[in-house]
Amino acid sequence: MVNNLPVLIRTRVQPLLSDLFALFFPACCHACSAPLWNGEKVICTACDYYLPATGFHNWAENPVSRLFWGRVDLASAAACYSFQKGGAVQQLMHHLKYKGYQEIGVEIGRRYGKELRQSTLFQQSDLIVPVPLHARKLKMRGFNQSECFARGLSESLGIPVNTTALIRIAATETQTRKSRFSRWKNVESGFALNPLVNLQGKHILLVDDVVTTGATLEACAGRLLEIKGIKVSIAAIAVA
Ligand SMILES: [Zn+2]
Repeated sequence: MVNNLPVLIRTRVQPLLSDLFALFFPACCHACSAPLWNGEKVICTACDYYLPATGFHNWAENPVSRLFWGRVDLASAAACYSFQKGGAVQQLMHHLKYKGYQEIGVEIGRRYGKELRQSTLFQQSDLIVPVPLHARKLKMRGFNQSECFARGLSESLGIPVNTTALIRIAATETQTRKSRFSRWKNVESGFALNPLVNLQGKHILLVDDVVTTGATLEACAGRLLEIKGIKVSIAAIAVA
């Protein structure tokens, strides 16, 4: 009996304690604040059902890909949800970005990754690159919300995330610190390519949180497309 004590604790006592903990401190849905039931993660089943999923990943000429026509040459582009003011997606994005619930980004990434895996438009990527935050902003927030989404996508798609290939430079720094970044290409755009990372011939899945004008993604994709033999697709959590 004494020998079996650790096993007993692990198999009987721990689940009981975690159920008891959940009874008093239930994890709540980040979209509607209702307590989550067993097996539900981050977003409850009802919210998941009613969230405005776009289905754009199965539609080549969707509004997100059309947004980039004549600006950058993308293989595919899509966003998981439509962003509506005052809606559940806005609530989720707010909790992710400003309340620091990184698991929201990761969980949406996991779910969307499963969808992308089934889409003929999104099966070819080799590497996921999140839109980088400026170092100062990253230090303030403590994390990059696009990277959280990238991590979840990576789990479901089975392809790695790269956070060193592309860096962000504040507009004011492009002149004053030009010498420091002089070995980086195209500092003027606000984004620079790391010459130490070889992305030649790769198909990059560039990811961001919310697409609005598309200017940030356009700047990033533009830099990446300077690399020989590269292809770029885009996936975002939401489109405004
Ligand atoms: Zn909910």
